Amino acid sequence: MAQIIDGKGVAANVRESVREDVEALKKNGVTPGLAVVIVGDDPASRTYVNNKKKACAQAGIYSEEYALPATTSQAELMELVDKLNHKKDINGILVQSPLPKGLDETAVVEAIAPEKDVDAFHPSNVGRIMIGNFHFLPCTPAGVIELLKSAGVEISGKNCVVIGRSNIVGKPMAMLLLHQNGTVTICHSKTHNLKEICRNADILIAAVGRRHFVTADMVKPGAAVIDVGINRDENGKLCGDVDFAEVEKIASCITPVPGGVGPMTIAMLLRNTVTAAKLQNGLEA
Ligand code: NDP
Repeated sequence: MAQIIDGKGVAANVRESVREDVEALKKNGVTPGLAVVIVGDDPASRTYVNNKKKACAQAGIYSEEYALPATTSQAELMELVDKLNHKKDINGILVQSPLPKGLDETAVVEAIAPEKDVDAFHPSNVGRIMIGNFHFLPCTPAGVIELLKSAGVEISGKNCVVIGRSNIVGKPMAMLLLHQNGTVTICHSKTHNLKEICRNADILIAAVGRRHFVTADMVKPGAAVIDVGINRDENGKLCGDVDFAEVEKIASCITPVPGGVGPMTIAMLLRNTVTAAKLQNGLEA
């Protein structure tokens, strides 16, 4: 049976180290601040925003919420981002996605000052990640790397397969594995021989968004399997992309859903906010 990687536990450790960092920063007169912008009333977004605010409070990070109606215009949203870019007590800006139809998410992301872009979605930060000279890493992929390290999984020289090529998970995930000297293959909906490619993976990362997508016959015995997916099963229960019950029998380690990658995403957001505060105050990050 595989080792179950305890995302909650690893995230708690990260959050505790962030809390200690914040305490030390406060002694230097710096309180990290995060602005969270939510537009419209999507219930999942509301839950994410509430969780992020709660996590900030626990870590001692100052947070502000800007809840705007779904009727907000692009100009109004851009004006708010501009205001936050110049607000001295705000070090990080997060605009919760998805935005309501009619709003241009790309333009909003590009309007955020790169040094306050704690999601690391701004093209300047994406480029920095590609080059390997970065301040922030995107929260979910960075969380996956932490989970692999916590389980003692060696990435260097290993065959790593990422299923999914989105800008927020798949692509940056592949880049971070490459930075760790993994030999990386990215798969997507047009990939041929997906099963064979996955079976060659020492480290398999699923970021597809389809429940039970990764079955046991796609997994090499002894592989490390990380499940980024968040889906609902036939009973409405939260589940990932991996057929956990079957894959657990052959993997060396595996993340559960819930309790795997999810908690890491928020923990890494807190860490990025602290990094942003340090950089903006001329302190070593
Ligand atoms: P996207 O829908 O943007 O990307 C899904 C990817 O899966 C695409 O690249 C797509 O390929 C690929 N894909 C779809 N079908 C197949 C197939 N049959 N074979 C191979 N590849 C396929 O999703 P995200 O990257 O935003 O998110 C992925 C999952 O991760 C979702 O469940 C999301 O909820 C979850 N998530 C979890 C987070 C967490 O904190 N745990 C954070 C962010 C996301 P193509 O490009 O060709 O269409």
